[in-house]
Amino acid sequence: MKLCELFGKGRTVFSCEVFPPKKSDPVDSIYKTLDGLKDIRPDFISVTFGAGGSQVNQTTREIAALIENQYHIPAMAHLTCVAAGREDVDRLLADLKADGVENVLALRGDVNPDYPPKTDFKYAGELVRYIRERENFGVSAACYPEGHLESPDLVSDIRHLKEKVDAGAQHLVSQLFFDNEDFFRFLERARIAGINVPIEAGIMPVLSARSIQRMVSMCGASLPGKLTRILARYGDHPEALREAGIAYAIDQISDLIAGGVEGIHLYTMNNPDVARQIAGSISSIRKV
Ligand code: FAD
Repeated sequence: MKLCELFGKGRTVFSCEVFPPKKSDPVDSIYKTLDGLKDIRPDFISVTFGAGGSQVNQTTREIAALIENQYHIPAMAHLTCVAAGREDVDRLLADLKADGVENVLALRGDVNPDYPPKTDFKYAGELVRYIRERENFGVSAACYPEGHLESPDLVSDIRHLKEKVDAGAQHLVSQLFFDNEDFFRFLERARIAGINVPIEAGIMPVLSARSIQRMVSMCGASLPGKLTRILARYGDHPEALREAGIAYAIDQISDLIAGGVEGIHLYTMNNPDVARQIAGSISSIRKV
């Protein structure tokens, strides 16, 4: 099933993101994550792609195949073109197809200083077009409610996003954000620009002050006052921060759904307990 077919059915799509286990973790730790997520029955699960290294690339494919064939949940494999040239893409798509994985998130990626970048595709839009012209995959792409860090302004950001959709992206997943007004304004800009594919809102529950500061510095998301106060008050109290972070994410999601968003993409950080708690709290909201 192509993921874009999930939308427009009168309920909010709910999806989860997982990442391949770190080298220091046992590979089968992913089973614990997926076992925990399967009870939530997300509409699909996406698997991130490391910015280089064949082992990571294979792991993304293997986990996507596991989700699709063993857990019987649609999988979306992320694929970055800084890490993959034409031959890598061809091989990876052939392997995914053989494994029954039908959906990819086509990305440019960020250069990993440990691996020289591949240069066959300069931007994600070129990868999107390449895949759509050759293969029968569902192709999704990334979008940025507050603009991508490298974009000089929001206008050029939307213009390039429109090009990516015109190149064949059928569904967009957003970068994390903490202020829903940023997402609603982005949605309006996108629709005015004629971007009419389903757009999922990316939500990351705040569970640790350190990791959220790292994420924010990497992706440029801004922290609204309400969240800054939570971090200041509970930052040194992990259990309290966890409760407040989950409550914040649930509040964000219920407001987004009330505002008519088509899908919620939860960055699970491989923490199925948190994902389950959030999914359980929005199960009726999603169906309205
Ligand atoms: P692009 O769409 O190519 O955009 C990159 C920049 O170039 C933007 O500023 C854009 O405006 C600009 N641009 C685009 N086209 C043109 C053009 N024709 N001319 C001039 N400028 C242009 N990274 C990973 O390494 N692995 C992952 O698994 C991963 N998953 C992600 C999932 C999501 C949902 C998101 C939002 C991001 C993810 N990332 C991942 C991070 C992503 O790789 C980075 O944000 C990267 O910097 C941009 O990737 P992109 O596909 O959005 O790039």
